[in-house]
Amino acid sequence: MNSSDTIIIGAGAAGLITALELAKAGKKVIVLEARNRIGGRCFTFSGDGFTTSIELGAEFIHGELPLTLKLLKEAQIVYEPVSGNNFQAKNGEIKQSEFFMEHWDEFEKALSEVQEDQSLEQFLQQNFAEEKYAGLRKSATQFAAGYDTADSERVSLFSLRNEWLGGHEEETQFRIPGGYIQLMGFLLEEIEKFGGEIKLNAMVKQVNWKPGLVEVVTADNASFTGKKLVLTVSLGVLVLDGNETAAITFNPDLFEQRKAATEMGFGAIIKVLMEFTGPFWKDRGLNNMQFLFSEEKIPTWWTQNPQQNNVLTGWLGGKPQDEMQHLNDEEILQEAIISLAHIFNVDASFITQKLVSAKVYNWTADPFARGSYSYATLKTASALKILKKPVAQTIYFAGEALFEGEQLGTVEAALVTGLEVAKAIIGA
Ligand SMILES: Cc1cc2nc3c(=O)[nH]c(=O)nc-3n(C[C@H](O)[C@H](O)[C@H](O)COP(=O)(O)OP(=O)(O)OC[C@H]3O[C@@H](n4cnc5c(N)ncnc54)[C@H](O)[C@@H]3O)c2cc1C
Repeated sequence: MNSSDTIIIGAGAAGLITALELAKAGKKVIVLEARNRIGGRCFTFSGDGFTTSIELGAEFIHGELPLTLKLLKEAQIVYEPVSGNNFQAKNGEIKQSEFFMEHWDEFEKALSEVQEDQSLEQFLQQNFAEEKYAGLRKSATQFAAGYDTADSERVSLFSLRNEWLGGHEEETQFRIPGGYIQLMGFLLEEIEKFGGEIKLNAMVKQVNWKPGLVEVVTADNASFTGKKLVLTVSLGVLVLDGNETAAITFNPDLFEQRKAATEMGFGAIIKVLMEFTGPFWKDRGLNNMQFLFSEEKIPTWWTQNPQQNNVLTGWLGGKPQDEMQHLNDEEILQEAIISLAHIFNVDASFITQKLVSAKVYNWTADPFARGSYSYATLKTASALKILKKPVAQTIYFAGEALFEGEQLGTVEAALVTGLEVAKAIIGA
């Protein structure tokens, strides 16, 4: 029988930092991870013909985020500011552009005056229903879908207001040239240094529990017991019903907590990474390019500037990607090629001939994520009250979705919540 003080489900950012903090405090911890790798939605990938490592999951550090930067410094991992120019492709033309939304002044004024939280869709229908605002409605909806992976009918307008009017556009974004995997690797090394254990290929299927005692059973029927359990699986996995691959059955069930999870927002992302024989966008005047926005099926693209390589990343987030869910990776890649061909006003064969390697990652199809990251809905605050309360001082929830604040949905959020839970357990 494997016995620990605390069992942690999931070796993503939240699970790893929880384990490290508990191991440092002298607790016996074991992390059970379904995948054959650590990192979860931090997934730095090398191979498949790419000459550089690529990020299939988290990529940026969205501002001076204290815990992430502190850990990077401690681990002596290099990170650098994202730089470059942004471009907008429209009607076969590409122009350098900063953020632009039709009727922005009116939109900003109305948004700043709203008294009661509502969904973005409600707000647009109440204030901008006229035909002349069709472009604004489309841009606002796409922006929430693209950046926050949010459904406009569910996303909290107040959360978007904080983000859009909060003066964040001046904040520096960073990227880790060697990838987030280095940070995950650092946490792993530290955990092992302090005596913690991580088990890969350990997919949890069942949790039997009573106050002060949990038994966790994996798909290969191994059993682990502990006094406490920390659950860090994504919201997408937490709400799965019993037949799905990563679904966890709780005995007794956690009805209230699982219902709360359904009331929070959890988005969708398809990321397409493409490496080319050369940076053909530079030949078309897009020197020093960072982001390129368009209205194509795969609408948002970026380079790894200031790193100089020949990789473009395509991004389709939120509800608009519903229509791609029935496509396989090869079909999605074809859509990406067509999108780029339209943007650069060239034949698809031009893009194909220059393509060296490609990787499509559909996070909704990933059985251990089942989506991208969380966004705030009108019910998030009440759901968080439930999920942040340990169940019988025995079962704790951590992970990006549990974060209260603007960095919801980030690696920082995951790290912060993991640390909070570890401290709560140490102090219990
Ligand atoms: C495409 C994409 C791009 C992103 N970009 C950014 C970005 O630029 N910057 C940023 O800060 N954030 C970004 N994020 C969000 C960030 O990746 C997440 O917020 C963060 O990594 C979540 O960490 P976590 O520990 O909460 O969850 P996870 O990383 O999902 O960890 C949960 C772990 O639980 C495991 N698991 C699931 N089911 C089971 C089971 N039954 N048994 C055992 N283990 C199980 C999973 O395999 C996983 O390893 C992005 C996310 C995606 C998907």
